[in-house]
Amino acid sequence: MNDAPILEAVNLSQHFEIQTGLIRRETRTVKAVTDLNFDIRPGETLALVGESGCGKTTTTRLLLRLQTPTGGSVRYDGHDINQLSGAALKAYRSRVQAVFQDPWSSINPRVRIQDFVAEPLVVNENLTRGEIDRRVHEAMDAVGLRPQDARKFSHEFSGGQRQRIAIASAIVSRPRLIILDEPVSGLDVSIRSQIINLFKDLQAEYGLSYILVAHDLATTRYLADRVAVMYLGRMIEQGPTDEVFDAPAHPYTQALLSAALSADPNAPRHEIMMNGEVPSPLNPPSGCAFHPRCHRFIGDVCKTLRPRLQHQAPGRCVSCHLHDR
Ligand code: SF4
Repeated sequence: MNDAPILEAVNLSQHFEIQTGLIRRETRTVKAVTDLNFDIRPGETLALVGESGCGKTTTTRLLLRLQTPTGGSVRYDGHDINQLSGAALKAYRSRVQAVFQDPWSSINPRVRIQDFVAEPLVVNENLTRGEIDRRVHEAMDAVGLRPQDARKFSHEFSGGQRQRIAIASAIVSRPRLIILDEPVSGLDVSIRSQIINLFKDLQAEYGLSYILVAHDLATTRYLADRVAVMYLGRMIEQGPTDEVFDAPAHPYTQALLSAALSADPNAPRHEIMMNGEVPSPLNPPSGCAFHPRCHRFIGDVCKTLRPRLQHQAPGRCVSCHLHDR
């Protein structure tokens, strides 16, 4: 099996300038993400975890080439995606797909399901009508929809079925990687597990890779092989899911996981409180950006020196002065 990365983020950064102040105009730099490094290999799931404003959304937009990074690159099979054009760009758009949170907003109510599901094939591939129809029916069947559903409109389906339709559209071009951006957050709790299990089944059947962005840590633990924890635009911990969940190394990860409900309602809870809110990326704290909220704060070194992301074990890294080597 070829284990080379499908996609890599290499020192990926997205900084932009904004004007602030009504009377004295001032140009400030927002560092949405800085120096991200991660990769995703065939058949695996990598989860990006962190509170709102940590840079997950910017990261997924950069991976989908909806924004151009101000530093670093996203590499697909070793090629910078922002250098792709023509057939190579169409191949990228076919092979890297996305499923977003809100299945209602992503489906045009005046378009028949068949045409919605077929869109990636029509835009990115050169197929006959018959081949497109065959691939659409194959994708609908794979997500548990009936062939006769193809002629219907989105308002004729429930929220869970709409998400199945969105997934059919994501797999119709036989992608290698799907970015799942809060894929079950908009669904009733009762059908979330069906959709999560569908992702598992599709991964087993087609060897798909996923990059998962989810607030729900139970979903993350169930689906992800590896977890990358982000705080204020930087990666602060990365490792195999079980290792990170069972023994989080970074104080932020410890606090984040401690707030999540255990699957066992009788398990003792030791929630670690974080002080205050996530700081503004316009005015990040000095040194370790987490220091004003950290329950393990160890003094001036935390205030003045930004910790480097350091390897602790194979596949495991953390940026915190408690783990300096
Ligand atoms: Fe906390 Fe210091 Fe580690 Fe930052 S470097 S997470 S402030 S202990």
